[in-house]
Amino acid sequence: MSKIKTLPSEVVDQISAGEVVERPAHMVKELVENAIDAGATEVEVEFDQGGRFVQITDNGSGMSKEDLAKCFLRHATSKISVADDLWALTSFGFRGEALASISAVSDVKITSRVQGLKEGWTVQSQFGKISQAQPSGGNEGTRVVVQKLFENTPARLKFLKSDTAEHTQIKNILKAIAMAHPEVSFRIRNKGKLLFLWASCDQKQRCEQVLEYAPLYEGSAEVAGIKAKVFVGAPNKTVKTARNIWNFVQGRFVQDRSLQAAVMDAYRSLLMHGEYPVAAIFVEAPLDEVDVNIHPTKSQVKFENASNAFRAVLRATRSVLEMAPWIEQMKQANTPQPRAPKEPGEARESTQVEMLYSEPVVYKTKSFISSHSATTYVSPSPNGGIQVEPVFKAEPKTPLDSGEPLRSSPSAVEKGFFSSLHVIGQAHLTYIVTQGSSSLILVDQHAAHERVMYEKLMQHWETGQMDVQQFLIPLTVDLDADQVEAIIEHKDDVERLGIEIDQSGPNTIALRTAPSLLKEKSLAAAMDVLGRELVEKSGSFAIEKVIRDICATMACHSVIRAGQALSRDEMVSLLEQMDEFPLSSFCPHGRPVYVEYPFHKIEKDFGRIV
Ligand code: ADP
Ligand code: MG
Repeated sequence: MSKIKTLPSEVVDQISAGEVVERPAHMVKELVENAIDAGATEVEVEFDQGGRFVQITDNGSGMSKEDLAKCFLRHATSKISVADDLWALTSFGFRGEALASISAVSDVKITSRVQGLKEGWTVQSQFGKISQAQPSGGNEGTRVVVQKLFENTPARLKFLKSDTAEHTQIKNILKAIAMAHPEVSFRIRNKGKLLFLWASCDQKQRCEQVLEYAPLYEGSAEVAGIKAKVFVGAPNKTVKTARNIWNFVQGRFVQDRSLQAAVMDAYRSLLMHGEYPVAAIFVEAPLDEVDVNIHPTKSQVKFENASNAFRAVLRATRSVLEMAPWIEQMKQANTPQPRAPKEPGEARESTQVEMLYSEPVVYKTKSFISSHSATTYVSPSPNGGIQVEPVFKAEPKTPLDSGEPLRSSPSAVEKGFFSSLHVIGQAHLTYIVTQGSSSLILVDQHAAHERVMYEKLMQHWETGQMDVQQFLIPLTVDLDADQVEAIIEHKDDVERLGIEIDQSGPNTIALRTAPSLLKEKSLAAAMDVLGRELVEKSGSFAIEKVIRDICATMACHSVIRAGQALSRDEMVSLLEQMDEFPLSSFCPHGRPVYVEYPFHKIEKDFGRIV
């Protein structure tokens, strides 16, 4: 007797329901995307009971009586008909699975009226038992009401989290969809209470509204046909988790580590450990270069060339950061600005008092040094590096003198800033003491040199014009076998760094050349880091990030240190080199390169002015 049998369709439906609507939030996503696919410009969502009750109303095309009769059938879709269509998708749905899955595990009623018709129709499915379409009233468009979700699948019900946790998921999904569709108005209700009202607007405004964070700055870039548009926050207004980096590909919210890494990489030298930016990233790739059909909930995509997407996002984000647009904003900060809540979602309150006294926001500002007393400025040193010693003794009365305008020091975009400084001398064998037009400026010689070296290495890598030294006898470096394997696998990228390598044993690589900028003795350490990073972050998307890390590490190991005496010429030359690169005000590890003490502050401390 045969043991193998085909499963009855209700079992099949329940199994795939688990994949498509793993959680109530996924169901909400499918239903709202159906509304958007139907051309809706207004969508209202109401949810409760941890998402076991959901009602979605739209003003889209609506469904005819015939379509209503078919919409619950598995693989019933109006969106594709042949396999080739899968590669030219412009709609969100296409598998015809969502309504079939939802109808198998809930009591769902759909009321719909085709635009322009007088009469609407209703169909219902009670856990897979589908009723005949009945005439009904209702507006043009569609309303889907889901109740008792998962009631016939107790195991699944048991896996749901608390109502609050499920509601949070639902809100997050709705936020993502809203950011991708600023042209659609959304009304979101929970327990009858209006939670969000997002009227149609432009995309930047929508992101600011949804993330409850403003201002965001816009940038864009294109790499090999892949377009990235980014809306990013200032590096001095950060949050504590990476959850506020939102990635979208072809208008779909996706979880994509590589795009996230690209954003973090762009901010790399501007953030302290544990700080994350707020960002919404929109990537559009040619239709045939990205597969959106690799995941049941379509929350992941696969690029034909992931590193191009990575680069596009990196460039778009850096294009914003290099302009440092927040500096202008801060210059006008004597007119108090509303401060974004630390975690988007927190209640928003903005008063001058909060802005001036709430501890980190002003202090952490890294592209400018505010006018608070030098004594309060201690350089954060995540790597246990040098701490800037207090120079002046006067205690400030308040953390920040509230009557004074914030003073921004010249940003990296002001070309020629560092070379314009007059060198007074060297202090503590660590700081170059200089004078600018209105302030005393101390430059950390190690941090400054590290930044210059890092930017040089990066530039050489990007342009493929690394100056190299050849070793007469190849320099061998011993590593773990998997490190060696990973490095050899990325030989081409590594060679663009000016490092020509061969494998000379299972645990050994031989270096024939290395960048002449680098000291020989730092190479082994650098190859070790490179190997480790490549092993850990396998996948080519990581290479640019790895190269950045490597450049930072190599730069750090091969530059002048604190404690080294410098001649005046050396100091002047270092300052001149600082001007060659953007973003020069932080070392690659995120410590400030310089601190500034405005003369008017000094004069105050001496009691010359009040
Ligand atoms: P898919 O979206 O993958 O096509 P679904 O199961 O989500 O599959 O929906 C099946 C079909 O029902 C859709 O192709 C569409 O024709 C129709 N439909 C679903 N929701 C709506 C809606 N809100 N407005 C108009 N038509 C809809
Ligand atoms: Mg759908």
